[in-house]
Amino acid sequence: MRPEQLENFQVFAQKFMGTSHRQPPIRALVGEIKAGLTELFRAPAGYEVILGNGGASAFWDAATFSLVEKKAQALVHGEFGNKFAKILGAPWLEQPTVIEAEPGTRSDLIAEAGVDVYAYPHNETSAGVVTDVLRVTGADANSLMLTDATSAAGGIDFDITQTDVYYFAPQKNFASDGGLWLALVSPKALERIERISASGRYIPNILSLKLALDNSRENYTLNTPALATLFFLNDQIQWMLKNGGLSWADAKTKANSKVLFDWAEKNPLTEAFVKNPLHRSQLVATINFADQIDALGIAQILRENDIVDTDPYRKLGKNQLRVATFVSVEQSDLEALTNCIDYVLERL
Ligand SMILES: *Cc1c(COP(=O)(O)O)cnc(C)c1O
Repeated sequence: MRPEQLENFQVFAQKFMGTSHRQPPIRALVGEIKAGLTELFRAPAGYEVILGNGGASAFWDAATFSLVEKKAQALVHGEFGNKFAKILGAPWLEQPTVIEAEPGTRSDLIAEAGVDVYAYPHNETSAGVVTDVLRVTGADANSLMLTDATSAAGGIDFDITQTDVYYFAPQKNFASDGGLWLALVSPKALERIERISASGRYIPNILSLKLALDNSRENYTLNTPALATLFFLNDQIQWMLKNGGLSWADAKTKANSKVLFDWAEKNPLTEAFVKNPLHRSQLVATINFADQIDALGIAQILRENDIVDTDPYRKLGKNQLRVATFVSVEQSDLEALTNCIDYVLERL
């Protein structure tokens, strides 16, 4: 998080922490977030921002209740894509088609008759693999594209008309705190939410996107959100807009990740985990180490020296470091990090 975000929070906190989210100042904040995201993502008329509590994981359940009509297809090449694919196996749906690839690589979604939702992560955060936001050619006309943008949102430029639901939690590239989900939703997806809600399907209130939609239109959430999360998110959105929006953020994260990848290429002991440069994330750099080096051991030494969270994704089990190159991160800090890793490597 940027130091200015935390400074600005002091002012907000003294005035507003403890305020009901149904009162004007907090509703105005939610309104600013909705307008800011619409502008940042250059959404055409008809797209709406909806939000609710529970983070991206809660949104997976909500989507399974409120967006999938009969059958989904899911792209899986890491932990986050895999978690959603499992949820899509819900008993009221047909079993999803799962297109799997080894972490560090990826496959592509393919047109399939009868599939009404195509789901994929924009950035698979566990492995550092990116997927372009593009509709599946030849898909049924009524099918929806669902993009899990939790670590990608606000860090990669893309065309919003190529997806129907661009959803995320704000604790990654948006430099906020957790517990919230937000989604930019197309007219086609709004219609699907209304239709499934009217169909009589059992949907728990907290997972109903229809209730989330109705509440979002009033600039609040179904139940009480964390106000700090809303504040930090909005501060980050306004900062991005002031600096040049999504194309500026995209250029910054590209330059950030290049520091790590260029460094890894130079050292014979390290290499990019994602071999295909087109699949390599500009937001999460995963760097493999030669077998004789214990990457986790390096992460541990860094942690003991207050350089934290360079650890690989715990379940992936690879000999690698994983570094966020989000828009808030300064290039000079990443250069300092590579110097620190070199320092450790020289002394092993
Ligand atoms: C972090 C992450 C999630 C999980 O987010 P929560 O808000 O903790 O549920 C889901 N998808 C992706 C791509 C993520 O990076």
